[in-house]
Parts: sequence; C-alpha cells; structure tokens
Amino acid sequence: MYRHSVLKSLCKEEDLILRELARDFVDQEIMPVRERIDDDEHHAIVKELLQGLANLGFIRAIFPERHGGSDIRSAVTLGLPLEEIARGDSGIAVALACTLWPFMPAVWANNDAVLDHFGPIFCGDELRIGCFNMTEPGGSSGGGGCDIENPGMQGRKIRTTAKLDGEHWVLNGQKIWASNSGIADAYLMVCTTDASQGDEGIALIYVPGDAEGLSFGNFERKAGMAADRNTTTYLENVRVPKEYRVSGPGDDARYFHANLAVGRLASAAMSVGNAQGAFETVLDFTGDRVVGKPGKPIRHHSIAAAMIADMAIGIETARMTYLTGAYRFDHPKEYGAAYSLEQLSYASIAKVYGADVAVMVTNRAMELMGSYGYVRECHLEKYWRDCKIIQLWLGGAQLGRFDVCRAYYDLPL
Ligand SMILES: Cc1cc2nc3c(=O)[nH]c(=O)nc-3n(C[C@H](O)[C@H](O)[C@H](O)COP(=O)(O)OP(=O)(O)OC[C@H]3O[C@@H](n4cnc5c(N)ncnc54)[C@H](O)[C@@H]3O)c2cc1C
Repeated sequence: MYRHSVLKSLCKEEDLILRELARDFVDQEIMPVRERIDDDEHHAIVKELLQGLANLGFIRAIFPERHGGSDIRSAVTLGLPLEEIARGDSGIAVALACTLWPFMPAVWANNDAVLDHFGPIFCGDELRIGCFNMTEPGGSSGGGGCDIENPGMQGRKIRTTAKLDGEHWVLNGQKIWASNSGIADAYLMVCTTDASQGDEGIALIYVPGDAEGLSFGNFERKAGMAADRNTTTYLENVRVPKEYRVSGPGDDARYFHANLAVGRLASAAMSVGNAQGAFETVLDFTGDRVVGKPGKPIRHHSIAAAMIADMAIGIETARMTYLTGAYRFDHPKEYGAAYSLEQLSYASIAKVYGADVAVMVTNRAMELMGSYGYVRECHLEKYWRDCKIIQLWLGGAQLGRFDVCRAYYDLPL
C-alpha cells in the first residue's frame, strides 16, 4: 500500500518521528478494536487506548519540561500525529486533542499557577483528561452555539459569569456539548466578567474536575464519535483561586481567539486522517471485488478510478492546506499573531475544506463499496458517521465560511 508523505520542508525530523510513533500505535492498537468502540458503553477500550497514548507521551506533550512535559508548541508537530490517530479513530483523536486544547492558553500565557497545579497531574503515569468548555445553549432569544465563538459578537453572548470574590472567582452558568465533558480532570471555562464589556469581559478560567458546584447531565447519544463523551455542564457557585484565570481583560479574548484557530487546525488534521482511513479501506475493497464484463476489480473501471482520483486529490490538498495553516500558526511574525483574523481565516479554510473532503470521501467510498460499505464488518461506515460532526462543530460550515471572509473584508457580525 502506498503510504502518503508530507513535504519535508514543512516539518522537522522529530515531527516525522512522532508521526511514525502515532502511525504504529494506530496500526497495532487502534485498528484491531476500532469497530468495538461504538459498543464500549463504559469506555474501557477508549480508556485503554488513551492510556496507551499517554504512555507514549502524547498527553504531556505541551506541558513544560519542569513538570515532565515535552514543551511542544508547534501546530505542525501536534497536527501530524493527530491526523494519524484520526485515521484509526477520530473519536480517540478528539479525546486526546481536547485534553491538550484547554491547556494551550495557560502555556502561551506562562500561567505558573495553572501549570504548576495541573502540569504534574497531567504529566504523571495515570491517564488524565481535559475539556475546553465554550458552547452554551441557544434558543429563540439568540445567543449560545456559534454566537459564543463568533468574533463579531465579541463575547457579548456569553452567559456563564465569573465574579471576583476576594481571592477567588465564582462561576455560574451552563455549558453544553464540550468534548470530554463529564469525565475530565480539568476544564477551561469560557466565561464573562461583564458581557456588556465585549472582548474585555471574556475570562478563561480553569476548574478542577472535582470542584464543588460542578455537575453534569447524561451523556449525549450521537451518530458517531463514540470515543468522545459530551454532556451538559452546570456551574453553581464554583469557586477557584483567582490565579486560575488565564491572564486578564483583553488578553483572555486574544487567547480565546487563538485557541479557536488551534481548534480549527486540529479539526482539519482529524478530517484528513478520517478521510485517509476511509480511502485506504475503499482502495483495498475495490482492488479485491471483481465486477462487470469482462470481470475486473472495481477500481480498474474508469468510472471508479475517476472517483478514487477525486478522493486522492481532496485528501492531498486538504493535508497541504492544514499543514500550511499549522506552519503559518507557528510563524506569527510572518503570518500574523495567533489571535489575528488572518490566522483564524486560514485555519477556517483548512477546517471547512478538510471536513468537506472527509464527508465527500466517506460518501463516495460507500458508493463504491455498495452495501458492504454500510455494514460494520467492512470498516467504512464508522468513518462516514464520525466525520460529519467535524463539519458541524466549531462554528459549523456556515460560521466557518464567514470567518474565512474576515481576513479579506469587514464582515458585520
Ligand atoms: C461531538 C461534539 C463535540 C463538541 N466539542 C465541543 C468542545 O469541545 N467544546 C465546545 O465548547 N463545544 C463543543 N461542541 C459544540 C459545537 O462546537 C457547537 O455545537 C457548534 O459550534 C455550533 O453550535 P450549535 O450547534 O448551537 O449551532 P448554532 O449556533 O445553532 O448554528 C446553527 C447553524 O447556523 C449557522 N450560523 C451560526 N452563526 C451564524 C451567522 N452569524 N450567520 C450565518 N449562519 C450562522 C451555523 O454555521 C450552523 O449552520 C461539540 C459538539 C459536538 C456534537
């Protein structure tokens, strides 16, 4: 089987070693069990796989070396293994990515109080899980959903409040959907100190998973992404030390926007991995199954070959797009500050395009596999179910496109 490669000028030798590590883990540990993850009610398989990734150092990757971490900050370095893991199972990739995601702002801000508390816990031998809790319920009166992350709303729709009471923040509100919610050891809550202040009011505050006043609903029942757990998070007078705020007024909004760009780049990497997994599956299947007169493998028929070519074109261009976005994110002097609309725009190009490619590839692959594509035993339908949500989360396909435009012209809200 031809194995895809990346332009070496975009990455360092160590990046390729990390990708190889993830690739081997996927082939040896994830592939043999991936079809059982949907039935893994108590997450025993999922926890074992995540523990395996923790053992390889992927969870401590971004933490400072003084806590046993690897101090990895590069989006390229983190994106490549994430793509590989999503080739095996996108839900496992999400659970891993969303463990690292909430800690990016603390790392960027060099928030010692947060890193000194959570660093040793997350760099230890035992599996730890993180959660970036941003989305809130919406409704006919507006707010919630995409309005929370829409840069045009400037945080004015955030309803989860943070009030300073002496040496503590007191948090109240409700969050929905966030990956790893209900099972996380640490949460980063997107709050406001005063919604009328817009971006100045945005406050990113860390909350330990066992904090008093934190409670959760039932886990959502979803079409796919079974390895990722999602529930409603309730905050009732949750108190945390005031140092658990990422930084301060204005800065927190900038870290929030930078983290949205990271989330979209990670989503793009996972879309490419998902599409690659589906592509490898359909290549195998269409090479074996013989149809037509004269009988020949499906992939030798020109109509199928053209479809396979379109899948390859989509995957290769989506891969280059997310890696270019990651490279740009790693080089803010040349391509704009991490929180800039330029970075969010390019990350959104990568995410919108990557997710569309994954949906197209899994759909076409299923057409070429016929009914076999629709049953679990043939390893395709899970990719098809899993990738759809990548198109819908983090602003969805529509706000994502809005955010692309923001680098090119002023777009009201
Ligand atoms: C499996 C899963 C994992 C998730 N993980 C996380 C997570 O880790 N953290 C977290 O905080 N959230 C998470 N989410 C939530 C997700 O990011 C949001 O659901 C998503 O951003 C959109 O919000 P919504 O579903 O309320 O859609 P809505 O806001 O109701 O949007 C509905 C539609 O309107 C479009 N739209 C929105 N704004 C505009 C506009 N201004 N103009 C035109 N069209 C617009 C949208 O693109 C979409 O098409 C997750 C959700 C799921 C299902």
